[in-house]
Formats: sequence, structure tokens, C-alpha cells
Amino acid sequence: MSTALLEVRDLHVWFDLDRGGRVHALRGLDVTLDAGEGLGLVGESGCGKTTAIMAMMGLLPPSATVAGEVRIRGDNVLARGEASVRPYRWTDIAMVFQGAMNAFSPVATIGEQIAEPMRVHGIAAGRAATRRARELLELVGIHPDRADRYPHQFSGGMRQRAAIAMALACEPKLLLADEPTTALDVIVQAQVLDLLDRLRRELGLAVVLVTHDLPVVSRVCRRAAVMYAGRVVESGPVGTLHDRPGHPYTRALFAAVPDLHTAGVGASIPGAPPRLDEDWSGCSFAPRCGEADARCRTHAPRPVVLAADRTSECHLAGIGGRS
Ligand code: SF4
Repeated sequence: MSTALLEVRDLHVWFDLDRGGRVHALRGLDVTLDAGEGLGLVGESGCGKTTAIMAMMGLLPPSATVAGEVRIRGDNVLARGEASVRPYRWTDIAMVFQGAMNAFSPVATIGEQIAEPMRVHGIAAGRAATRRARELLELVGIHPDRADRYPHQFSGGMRQRAAIAMALACEPKLLLADEPTTALDVIVQAQVLDLLDRLRRELGLAVVLVTHDLPVVSRVCRRAAVMYAGRVVESGPVGTLHDRPGHPYTRALFAAVPDLHTAGVGASIPGAPPRLDEDWSGCSFAPRCGEADARCRTHAPRPVVLAADRTSECHLAGIGGRS
């Protein structure tokens, strides 16, 4: 029996369209994560990162069809669809939504809003919930007396840390963070990432960090999964992916990161990802890949295991000394 905290197996998500057809947003996602581990989900907009974590939380709209397995310590939380995720949501899996710092109600104090999930889930109520809300604020580096303040009295960085405190209210084992540093300046961004890394180490919290920003991943995560067109095309230790990217898309992603030391501008990736309302034969990256050959256009590559913690979904993986 697996001891992994999170196991996602062959996860598919599609949205049926009124005009017929479907948008197949997630096309067989496989991800594993242990307690206290950080995993970055990276890729361009539309690659399926946010869809993947919304599916894990059971928070996709009714128009979505979800198939596959999401297991928390062996329990398939999708066994009976969205309803079966509910008992796990917030208490086992919690999420910091994109733009969470702007989602606080302006008419309730930060402390009241952090305490709310505890009351809803029967974890704590009354003074105990208030006391716990203050402790959580302290945990994320905010003076507990600020629990009585309103959101407009917090800076953007403080609101984002308060959003993380709220996600931790029911002591989840897994935190899904969707672009948690977008719209923050670089100094506050570093503070929020350091906070996530500290919580991961001190609480044994597993963190899935969704971002399109590769340098952000390395601050919290040892491993990353590179997504393209609804699938993981390469995964492995962040350092290895950076130093020896095996998949042409991973190489292109890293090449697109501007170099602050040389003031070099990153190279953009030519072309665009495939339309997800269409099916294609061959490799999804072939139209943009400088190394594509005839086989790439007709046969979809399967994941190649390059090492115990390293896979690449490319026909060239492992060939000619490619890692
Ligand atoms: Fe490029 Fe072919 Fe590898 Fe796809 S399978 S990434 S097209 S070389």
C-alpha cells in the first residue's frame, strides 16, 4: 500500500460545449507527493495547472466532467464525484486561491474570517476559534492583535499571508497554492514564498505550488512537474530540470526566463499551445518543437522514466545521452 500523501492517477477533466464537442483541459495527469514535500506545477497559461488543483479540491463548475483518481493517504476522494471531496476539503486539502488577498469580505475583521472555517467544520468555536485565529496570524508573521483589524487596514502582502493563515485554519495536510505571489512586489513575493517554505518544513505541510514563474518554484519546491496541453511532459528535481532539461518544452520554458545578471531578455517560445477543443495525433508540442521529426507528428510519446524521480514525455528522452 502506498504511503504517499497525495496520488493523482490518470486525471482527466473536460467541459462539454453547448455547440457540441468538448474542451479536454486535463488529459491524464499523474502526480505523487509525500508529506512535507513541495511540488511546483509549472507551464504556460491554459496548460491545465489551475484546472488540476481545482479538480483535486472538487471545486470545478458543474459543466466539468472529472475522471481518474485523487488519493489522499490511499483514500480516493473522487470516488463518488464532487460530493465525496467535501469531507476532505479544508481539513485535509486546503487551497490559497489566485487573488485570495482580494477575496476577504470588507465588513468582517480578519480574525473573524480566519475563524470562520473552524466554526463551519466544527474544529473550534467561540473563544477557542478566536484564540486559534490569533495563533495562525502569528504563525504567518502578523501580530495577533491585528486580528481585530479589517482587510483594508492590511497591506497586500499581509492580506496574502492572512489568506494562507485562513487556509491553514483546519490544519490541512496538503496546501494547494494557485499563483500565490502574483501581483505582489518582489520583496513581498520573497516573504510569502519563504513563509510557505517555512510552513512546509515546520508543519510537515505538503505544498503544490502552481505558477508560470519558474524561479518562484525553487524557493519552496524540490520537485517540479512541467505541464503542457493538459499533461505533465517532464518532472524531476528543480535543479536537474534547470541544469539539464530533457524535454524541449522544459528547455524552452527555462530559456524564456529573463537573466537578471546579464539583463538578457528571455527567448519567447514560437507558436501557441494546441486548442484543447480539438484532438491531435502525435506530440502536442510538435508544431512548436525544433527537434520534431516525422514520428513526433504521428505518434504521441509516452512517459519515459529516466531516474527514480525523473520522467520525460518525449521520443528523444534518454537517447544520445539526453537526461
Ligand atoms: Fe519535440 Fe518530438 Fe519530443 Fe515532442 S516528442 S517534444 S515533438 S522531439
